[in-house]
Formats: sequence, C-alpha cells, structure tokens
Amino acid sequence: MANAPVEIKNTWAVVQDHTRVFQDLVYVYPVISRRSRGLSVGVNLNPDKRCNFDCVYCEVDRKTPGRAASVDLGQLRTELTWLLRYALDGGLATQPKFDQVPELTRAIRDIAFSGDGEPTMVPDFDECVRVVAEVKQELGLDGTKLVLITDSAGLDKASVRRGLERMDACEGEIWCKLDAGTEAYYQLVNRSAVKFDRILKNITGTARTRPVVIQSLFLRTHGAPMPPEELAAYCERLTTILRDGGKIREVHAYTVARPTPESWATKLSKDELEAIATTIRARTGLPVSTFD
Ligand code: SF4
Repeated sequence: MANAPVEIKNTWAVVQDHTRVFQDLVYVYPVISRRSRGLSVGVNLNPDKRCNFDCVYCEVDRKTPGRAASVDLGQLRTELTWLLRYALDGGLATQPKFDQVPELTRAIRDIAFSGDGEPTMVPDFDECVRVVAEVKQELGLDGTKLVLITDSAGLDKASVRRGLERMDACEGEIWCKLDAGTEAYYQLVNRSAVKFDRILKNITGTARTRPVVIQSLFLRTHGAPMPPEELAAYCERLTTILRDGGKIREVHAYTVARPTPESWATKLSKDELEAIATTIRARTGLPVSTFD
C-alpha cells in the first residue's frame, strides 16, 4: 500500500464532512481523515448512539433516534467487505467530495472502530474485532492499521481485552482520549459517570501491553483555554503513565473542528494549540502532532 505524501487540508469539503452515513450502510463509512493521514474506513459499532461520556464538543446528534441497537456481525462483514472493495476498485473515487481527492481513496490507511458512541460498550467487542480482522486479512490489507478510538472507560472489560489482543496481531493501534488532567476538568469537558481515575488506570494498563496513541482535544470553555495548572496536571498524568510502565507512541493534540452543541465550548487558534503542544513536548518528551 502506498503512503500518501499529500498534505491533507482541513479546508477540503471531504475532510470537513465526517458524516457517518454513506449510502444505506449501517456499520461502515469512509472518511478522509487528517489524523489517519488519508482514507479511514470507520466501523460504527454504536448506530444506537450509546456512550458513557457526554463530551461538550460531541458531534453526534442525539436529538434524532439511533439505529440498530446491537451489532449484526453478518451485516457488518458484508458491508465492510463491500466498502473496502469499492474503495480499492476505484468506486469511491467517483463519489461526490471523494472525487476531489481520488488519489487518496484507493489507499486504505486504517479501519477504525469509531462511530456514534463508545465502541467498547458493545458486549461482544472481541467478536466484532474478529470479523473486521478476518475481512482485512481476506482482502490482503496487511499494511492497513486496525484502530480503536476510545474514551478508555471500557478497556478493562474482559471482551475488550480479548479484542485488543486480536488487534495486536493485525497492525492494531489504540487511540485513547485524554482531555484533562484533573477530575474537575474531566467532568467539565467529558461529563461522565466513570471516574477519571479509572480512565487513567485503563490507559496505563493498556499501554503497558502495547504503545498507545493519546488523543487530546483542547478547547475554550466559557472563553478561556485550558488553564496553565490544568495543562501541568495533564502533562503530569502522561509522565505518570510512562513512569508506571505505559508506552505512548504519540500525542494527537487537536481542537474543535465544527460547531459544538454547547455554545461555550469553542475552538482554539492554531497558535494556542501549537503553544500547548510545545508545552507537552517539553514536559513529557513525547512526540506531539497537532490538528487545528
Ligand atoms: S466519547 Fe466520543 S461519542 Fe462519546 S460523547 Fe465523547 S465525543 Fe461523543
């Protein structure tokens, strides 16, 4: 699979539009993603829109009812096989918006568990991973990563741990959300009944077994960016994970891309985000990529 050397711009319509509905498919959708650096095929295990977080910046429209309440593994296999073949055969390159970047639509950078809710909430997560891994193998997509984008609340569940082990065997990567350094800021931004300590414990436990990517969204709340003491606490959380034996491949620092449901949760400027990234690099020694 060729790597895409093309710079992916956030002004492209196909990058701005992260709709999770493509044709009449229920479980899969294509996006051109800057963080994936090209075509990412999303696997939405939560058409029912269930999540154990209520992030202030969440783009999922929970005013309209969700779809399928459980994952039909046969349908997931059929839809994923069709979409991957469609992309590989050049069909996706002819679709509106994707036709602006046809050169990016044949190289499938990753297949990502990421959808309208939290993927680790499905009871048979390991079976979902099995199906996706089998399709990836059947199509010979050895260079395509299998990514789990997660809020980390369910990483300690038995079926999730089995799923992660399956992912380890097929270019798996875990992207763990971490938007705060303290319980108070976590409750301001992520608004979850799950304790912040459990999130940190889950990230550390997962990162001890394989390197993880930390995904952090920085934003303004009520006009103010993350306070310096909160950013210091956030960096301290990362160094604690490292000190406790966790491995972090990279930090993805990004900000709000589209209007949020809460009018007081707004975007940082490019310079503000870069300043935060500089602080994280200096305090943790970790590589940080920014996506403004
Ligand atoms: S974890 Fe993701 S799906 Fe859940 S509320 Fe936050 S942004 Fe939305």
